[in-house]
Amino acid sequence: SAISCNDIEKIQVLGHGNGGTVYKVRHKRTSQVYALKVVHGDTDPLVRRQVFREMEILRRTDSPYVVQCHGIYEKSFGDIAILMEYMDMGTLDSVLRQKGTFSESKLAHVARQVLSGLNYLHAHKIIHRDIKPSNLLVNQKMEVKISDFGVSKIMCRTLDACNSYVGTCAYMSPERFDPDTYGGNYNGYAGDIWSLGLTLLELYLGYFPLLSPGQRPDWATLMCAICFGDPPSLPENASEKFRSFIECCLQKESSKRWTTTQLLSHPFLLQGSEA
Ligand code: ADP
Ligand code: MG
Repeated sequence: SAISCNDIEKIQVLGHGNGGTVYKVRHKRTSQVYALKVVHGDTDPLVRRQVFREMEILRRTDSPYVVQCHGIYEKSFGDIAILMEYMDMGTLDSVLRQKGTFSESKLAHVARQVLSGLNYLHAHKIIHRDIKPSNLLVNQKMEVKISDFGVSKIMCRTLDACNSYVGTCAYMSPERFDPDTYGGNYNGYAGDIWSLGLTLLELYLGYFPLLSPGQRPDWATLMCAICFGDPPSLPENASEKFRSFIECCLQKESSKRWTTTQLLSHPFLLQGSEA
């Protein structure tokens, strides 16, 4: 049943993004807690376009691995608002900062869920384009869900090169910078796999793998590291299965990178089960 925006009260701010604020809110009658992303009317047209794209995608998606949308309000709370399920552990980025690096079995659990989400999105012709720790939400049940579809792309009939600089440049794949060299039979879906590989590596190492700890993340440094350097890899002490999994994600040539379906049956994800 539809939730009226008049029945919702703000509890606290959860995060700020470009142009919007995410609040923890409560439904007054049921006391159910949600997250509400609000973008104010006076923000620039680009940000508004991003919110409308996010709404469009959240309307279409229904997966346990993609953050659930419970309502869309186009004229309340200042201007535009999206009511989502509340993920009470925040982002994988905040979990990393609060609890330290992740074990391999935890990362297998994370990878399985993010890949299931990406598998769902790719099957629905949606490219996320901004997979990174701060866009992956977690709850107490250790469920991991993909969120923040601000720069995502819905593919139409044609395979669009979509090599524009959207998303967080640090997690961007080589072919997004240089499709002629690393594009192969370029499809945008493989870019999400690169970003997933970097994300898992960062959660294991505790720092962003393309920069030495403390190095300033300017655009030129990152572009050089991504396009001219060897892809980052795990240290020797990591297991063979995990190292192989990361290698399959971080192939510089996009056509050599594994797809979601291939990765979901990789031995790294088949060992053990729950974290
Ligand atoms: P932006 O496009 O501005 O990055 P996000 O959708 O990533 O917006 O949200 C910004 C921040 O708000 C996130 O990094 C996270 O800390 C918090 N947040 C967003 N959605 C939720 C949610 N459903 N549950 C809990 N926290 C959330
Ligand atoms: Mg974000």
